[in-house]
This record gives sequence, structure tokens and C-alpha cells, in this order.
Amino acid sequence: MSSYFSSLYVHVPFCMKKCRYCSFYSVKWSEEVEQVFIKSILREIKLCSELPHLFETVYVGGGTPSSMRPKTLEMLLKSLVTNFRFASGLEFSIEINPATVNLEKMNIMRDFGVNRISIGVQSFKDEELSLLGRMHSSKAAIDTIGLVIRSGFENISIDLMYAIPFQTVESWMNSLKMATSLKISHVSIYELTLEENTLLFKDLYSGKVSLPPEKDIVQMYLSGTEFLESKGLIKYEISNFAKKGFECRHNNNYWQRKPYLGIGPSAHSFNGKERFHNPSDLLKYSAILKYNSLMHIIDYRVDAKESLKEKVFLGLRTTDGVVLDSECLLNFFRVFEEENLVKIVGKRVFLTDKGMMISNELFVEALLHIENCPVCKQE
Ligand code: SF4
Repeated sequence: MSSYFSSLYVHVPFCMKKCRYCSFYSVKWSEEVEQVFIKSILREIKLCSELPHLFETVYVGGGTPSSMRPKTLEMLLKSLVTNFRFASGLEFSIEINPATVNLEKMNIMRDFGVNRISIGVQSFKDEELSLLGRMHSSKAAIDTIGLVIRSGFENISIDLMYAIPFQTVESWMNSLKMATSLKISHVSIYELTLEENTLLFKDLYSGKVSLPPEKDIVQMYLSGTEFLESKGLIKYEISNFAKKGFECRHNNNYWQRKPYLGIGPSAHSFNGKERFHNPSDLLKYSAILKYNSLMHIIDYRVDAKESLKEKVFLGLRTTDGVVLDSECLLNFFRVFEEENLVKIVGKRVFLTDKGMMISNELFVEALLHIENCPVCKQE
């Protein structure tokens, strides 16, 4: 591993309760699980501190990092700041969920240099929250945002979800209006996508719930984008909107394909040449660390073709787009320009709002083209 890691992702693998739509790796919180996790990750931090790194960004995600008890949270943050080296102007984010934080935890985060808080709100409508199986109410979310502001944080992001069963364009817009009435600097909006192994997928399959019509989902994204931009939260990526200067640098590093290190069970990493991950199971992960060793499972090696594919689908997610040297690939995108799905300026390709709505379909087509085209492979 020769490249310097410039970002660190820390995966906290437990939650107080499983949400009905969640297909991420997470286990139910218990004191015992928390103990196993902290013992193991403290070892992993020590081992990884030997790897070449200078972190510009740190992101503690999950799972629900804020479900850790104050003492454990303090141990984790202390270990991060004492073992790793950080560049000046570090962006240090942590994810929290409403109803899992208090003033003591917020003070610990602030005291250890956390300067960006990302809150999993999802909706400001109680019926939608209970359908999603979230633990908190709309009021708890508003109270948590107030607590975060009172604790001295200015860089605050919230996640909101659209295409929730029975959601209307009106209730979606009400959630956005509530969000922008609070002092936040960043909003991430995600379309609910249901994986087969989730409870909500089963409800959908058995006809207990139904998704909003497709035309409403399109409307939610387009009206949501317009509304957020009218409030000074400018889109800089398909799902992300920020006030000027509050764009998430950690995610920008992912999209620019800078090397990042992931620690914690199931965390993914990229060293510039390979993508790899830790064992996904907490017990397997901790069993390996008991012997003070790391286990990086290789996903794939990033050769020239993979590199071009990643550059295209990561770059096109952002409003900066992607600069392409391949004439062949530029010609491939010109067809979509006629349908107003992409814009091409010189060698730079961007998705339009319409293109962003169907970005996954466009990515699949572009990746297939790169895979099969003898010319693109050589460029
Ligand atoms: S809080 Fe997040 S990670 Fe945990 S179950 Fe819910 S969606 Fe999944």
C-alpha cells in the first residue's frame, strides 16, 4: 500500500432498533456489543496508525454512532485524535440520530474536535417516521437540531427521504420547509429504495403499503431541488445541497477518488490501486483483531478500465461533472445531450436535472460502453 490515505471512515455497527427499510450491516445495540466493538476498534486504530496517512476529513458513521454511551464515545474519539495525523482545517463529521443524544455526548464530540454533525431525520411527519420504523418523532428531531445548535455546532446536515409509502408531494415539501426553517447548512435527500431483505419491502410485496406514483416521485425531486436552491442550499451532487462553503469535503474526496481508509466492521477502503473491506460481521472482525492483525478483503483491483468507469460514474454524480479525454466516450454522451440528459462543455460532461433523475440507467449504459468498447479501453 503506497498511497497516502487522505480520508478516514469509521463504521459504528449498531443501532438501538432496526429501521424497517434498512439493509445496511448493523446489529442491535447492547452493552456487550458496544464493549466488543470498542475493544476491537481501539486495536484497529493502533494498527492502522502505521499506514501512510494524513487525514483531511474524518467521518464517523454507521449504524448509529450516537447510540454509544458517553464513556465509549469518548474512548473512540480520544483514540482517533491521539493515534492519527490530521491536516490543518480537518473536517470531522459524526452521524447522530434524534433521541440518542444529550448535552453530555454533544460536549464530548465538540471537545474532541468534531465540527460537522449529520442528523438522520428522514421526515418531519410522524406517520412517515413510524412507517419507516424510525425511533423518533418529528418533535424529537426538531429538539435534537436545537440541542446541536446550542452545543455550538454550525456545520449541520440533515438527511431526508422521499418516495416513502403514501407520501404526497405536499407532505414532502412540508418536510423541506421545516428543514429550511431551522439553522442547518446542508441537506441530503434520498429516494427510498427497498431491498428484498427489509420489512418494508415485505409490506410492499404483500400489498400492505404502496409507493407514491412515479410522476409524484419525479415531482418530489424536481420541486425539492428548486425549493432548496431558492433557500440558498445549492445542489452540488445528485442528493446533496449545501450553503456556500458547507459542501461535505469527505464525500467530495470519495467522488474525486482520493484514497480513504475505512475502519470498523464492514468498512470499505480505497488505496488508489485496490478497493477492499473489513469483515462484515462484528464477531469475525473482533476475532481477527484479538490477534492484533488486520484482514482486508479485496473487492477488486482498479486497472485502467475500472479507473475510467469509476471516474465517470463518480464524477457524473457531482454538478462539476467529469472531464473526459476519450473522444469516443464524449461521442457516446453526445447522444444523450440531444435528449437533454447531459450537457457537454469542451471536454466536460454534466448531468442535467432530468439526467440526474435517471442517473442509474445512464451509469449502466456508460459502464457497458466502457466495458465493451475497444477504443475507450486504450485511451
Ligand atoms: S439508524 Fe440507520 S443504520 Fe440503523 S437501522 Fe436505521 S437506517 Fe439502518
